[in-house]
Amino acid sequence: MKVLSVGAGLSGAVTGRALAEAGHQVTVIEARDHVAGNCHTARDAQTGVMVHTFGPHIFHTDDPQVWEYVTGFTPFKPYKNRVKTTSQGAVFSLPINLHTINQFFGKTLRPDEARAFIEGRADTSIDDPQSFEEQALRFVGPELYEAFFKGYTEKQWGCSPRELPAAILKRLPVRFNYDDDYFAHRFQGMPEHGYTALVEGILDHPNIDVHLSTPFDEAHAARADHVLWTGALDAYFAHRHGRLGYRTLDFEPFRATGDYQGCAVMNYGDADVPFTRITEHKHFAPWEDHADTICFREFSRECGPDDTPYYPIRLVEEKALLGDYVKAAEEARGVTFLGRLGTYRYLDMDVTIREAMDAAELLKTAFETGTPPPVFPKSPL
Ligand code: UDP
Repeated sequence: MKVLSVGAGLSGAVTGRALAEAGHQVTVIEARDHVAGNCHTARDAQTGVMVHTFGPHIFHTDDPQVWEYVTGFTPFKPYKNRVKTTSQGAVFSLPINLHTINQFFGKTLRPDEARAFIEGRADTSIDDPQSFEEQALRFVGPELYEAFFKGYTEKQWGCSPRELPAAILKRLPVRFNYDDDYFAHRFQGMPEHGYTALVEGILDHPNIDVHLSTPFDEAHAARADHVLWTGALDAYFAHRHGRLGYRTLDFEPFRATGDYQGCAVMNYGDADVPFTRITEHKHFAPWEDHADTICFREFSRECGPDDTPYYPIRLVEEKALLGDYVKAAEEARGVTFLGRLGTYRYLDMDVTIREAMDAAELLKTAFETGTPPPVFPKSPL
């Protein structure tokens, strides 16, 4: 089969690789001048620091097969994400843990005491939290919500946490011990030579042709037996039902000598600080040594037609529109939609890879048996 992958991010690369290994001919077209999508990394010429061009990416997974897969293509170094947040004039540890609770409330509580203390502040009348705000009020109470989540979330998503789904906050744990590992996954690390090297490794196969700086047009699809669409779902249909909402990010770089903030990620919880976080990228590679440093202030805003989409918003109105696009996708022939943009879901890298691996298995079977290929690895609804 001749397969066209539109996009050279993780989804297109992983699915394309599995199909290439099964003997299919895979052409990858990528509108940008690099592979790896939004996990692209490149060294800053002035400081020599490896920069995560589209914002911080930390690899974490509980899936041994995904871990084995990525580490088979490029070496990974151990890396734990230990995030700090500046709020109300002080610096705290995230995710909320015993240190955060004790520091914030000026206490010396032990785990069980802290659990009871927080339960006493939580709104236990909320049985089944639906919104981000309800989830926060139910599990951490109003003070920690105000300090760490409310302002940050308003900046990040451009709306009230009352309008956002609880699922966004469920990404973050609350711990009643001093574990400040941002992720609770068994396997964590950073690719020693960056994510672009990882994706280049995945795409390095004799049955795969990669064409950079090549935007999609219909002629590409006409030459293929099947298309893997990893761009925005609504873009495939030329936005004919309207635009799905995304957030985009702006990064404001600045350089300094030495160590600017002492950690890779410093969040800013206060609503009156216009950026959400500052990332200092040399701390993502603690095994490297750099005299100078480069940091990025990160600003979130609504994604316009010419901006890069980062986060699917999935508010109520997007959900209705999404239904129209899912229906259109199910009626389309010869295309599989993959990844964060193609399925309009807030996916982490490991889930993206897992879904791409699974989609490739289904596609291989479909190509062999002539049965219909999957439209989505998992329904976006
Ligand atoms: N969040 C917050 N305060 C923080 C960090 C996160 O309110 O200091 C909320 C915010 O709504 C964010 C969500 O939790 O979008 C998920 O955070 P995560 O760190 O997983 O976001 P990502 O790194 O994917 O942007």
